[in-house]
Amino acid sequence: MNIPFNKTYLTGLEKKYLDEVLASGKYSGNGEFTKRCQAHLEKRYGFRKTLLTTSCTDALELASLLIDLKPGDEVILPSYTFVSSANAFALRGAKLVFADSRADHPNIDAEQIEALITPNTCAIVPVHYGGQACDMQKIAALAEKHKLWVIEDAAQAIDSTYGNKYLGGVGHLGAFSFHDTKNISAGEGGALAINHEAFVKRAEILWEKGTNRSAFFRGEVDKYGWVDVGSSFLPSELIAGFLCAQLEKTDEIQKMRMAAWKAYRDTLAVLEKKEILLMPDEPHNAHLFYLVCRSLDERTRLIAHLKANGIASVFHYLSLHKSPYFAAKHDGRELKNADRFTDCLLRLPMYAELGAATAQKIAGQILEFYTS
Ligand SMILES: *Cc1c(COP(=O)(O)O)cnc(C)c1O
Repeated sequence: MNIPFNKTYLTGLEKKYLDEVLASGKYSGNGEFTKRCQAHLEKRYGFRKTLLTTSCTDALELASLLIDLKPGDEVILPSYTFVSSANAFALRGAKLVFADSRADHPNIDAEQIEALITPNTCAIVPVHYGGQACDMQKIAALAEKHKLWVIEDAAQAIDSTYGNKYLGGVGHLGAFSFHDTKNISAGEGGALAINHEAFVKRAEILWEKGTNRSAFFRGEVDKYGWVDVGSSFLPSELIAGFLCAQLEKTDEIQKMRMAAWKAYRDTLAVLEKKEILLMPDEPHNAHLFYLVCRSLDERTRLIAHLKANGIASVFHYLSLHKSPYFAAKHDGRELKNADRFTDCLLRLPMYAELGAATAQKIAGQILEFYTS
């Protein structure tokens, strides 16, 4: 076998839409395909307003501008996450306060958040690991009580639900990624869902370099100029055309990923029963399939075993509170679940074209590792 960890699935529409963009002669941002992608996300997921961005990192930076984050303001987020969840706020001089993960899942332990809230706390950033929702009810209640913003890092959570809502549409703001490693890809790309009405108008201005250009093109103002801070967050139409080809095939992509996910789960469940491995019990949006080994050593040996059989598997985040950039700034609290996932969590190959049969074979190699 020679199985990569990830492979972008092309839906067949990409070339058609890119040809349309090329023929249009209009390649810069906020054109027809940008509008089509945004309308798709708003309609399918019920977001009040959606803006495409060049990445999820960018969407989070736009969010940090929207909440007017000032140096010294505090942001609570999990330590076990991607650097971008933190960087967007570090860039504005915010003080990052890292929370631990739950014992049974990498998501932030919502029970620990209230003890971390101070008069300077400004926002909570739940990261929906593997598309599994954080405890948004608890987080929303804390936000309401302490007057905090909730910014969902929904980079991995497209098409995942929470109650009767879609993730990214639960907090005040929600950031998505369309990086190659995510379910829906534009190579690089992202989106910000703006669910809080008061942010809608300003978001569009910050998105277009602090100008009221969008209002101008709608005919709402007779000239456009510099009205606020901002940056260039919007992707080109080439990106939007590619993205549109993927978004419109979301159901097809999700169905394929789900089949592989279920094959993993069904074949490996026996190892969970024997309390050898921890693994997710629901697919959510089938973004990833992970295992939690009993030790770092066991994980290292399992990676080597899979590699010897032509299967790429990878560990995930290194706790940010122990990162070279942040370690000296951390307040010293031990975050033992984050550290455990850093050492013991392993991700198996997951992409639309993987298929149930190959997933079963990979799982078979894992069973062999644990029974031989
Ligand atoms: C992928 C990812 C990001 C970054 O997404 P980009 O589009 O590459 O900027 C941020 N947060 C999480 C949790 C991610 O998985």
